[in-house]
Amino acid sequence: MNCAVFLDRDGTINHDYGYVHEIKKFRFLPNAIDALKKLSKSRYRIIITTNQSGIGRGYFPEADFMRLSKHMADSLKKQNAGIDAIYYCPHSPKENCACRKPKTAMLLAAKKDFNIALNKSFVIGDKSEDIEMGKKAGCRTILITTERREKNSNADFNAKDLLEAAKCILDGKA
Ligand SMILES: [Zn+2]
Repeated sequence: MNCAVFLDRDGTINHDYGYVHEIKKFRFLPNAIDALKKLSKSRYRIIITTNQSGIGRGYFPEADFMRLSKHMADSLKKQNAGIDAIYYCPHSPKENCACRKPKTAMLLAAKKDFNIALNKSFVIGDKSEDIEMGKKAGCRTILITTERREKNSNADFNAKDLLEAAKCILDGKA
C-alpha cells in the first residue's frame, strides 16, 4: 500500500482571499512550492482535497475551478513539485453531501484510487474541518497557522507553514 499527504488548498497552498477562483488573483503562500518540491521527492503521494462550495452556491462555475486547478498543477509541475491528484467537493453545505469536509468521502475515494494506507498518511490544512476529517479517517493531522490567528489544539501538530509541515513529516517528527 501507499502513503499520502492530503493537502487542503486555500489557506494551505495558496492565499485564501475567500472563494478563490481567478487565476490572476491566485498566489502561492511563501514556502509552499518548496514544501511541495520536498514532498514530491518523497515516497508520499500528494493529493489535494478541497471544499469548493463557491460552485454549489453559484459564486463561480465549475469550469473556473477546473481552469485554476490546471494552472496550479502546471505551475507546480514546471518547478518539479508535481501533485498526484485533486479531489474536490463542489456542493453547498445545504446539499448535505458525503464529500464536504469534515466528511471523509474524498479521502476514501483517494484511498481506493491510489491504494492508500490512511493510518500511515497525513492530512494538512488550515481549518478545523481538515483536522476533523483526518482524525475520523485515522490519519495524522497538521494544522497550518499561516493565515490563522487561533491554533486548533485538536491537531496532532501545528506548523507555521507548509514547509514546516513537510519537514516535520519527512524528518519523522510527526
Ligand atoms: Zn460534496
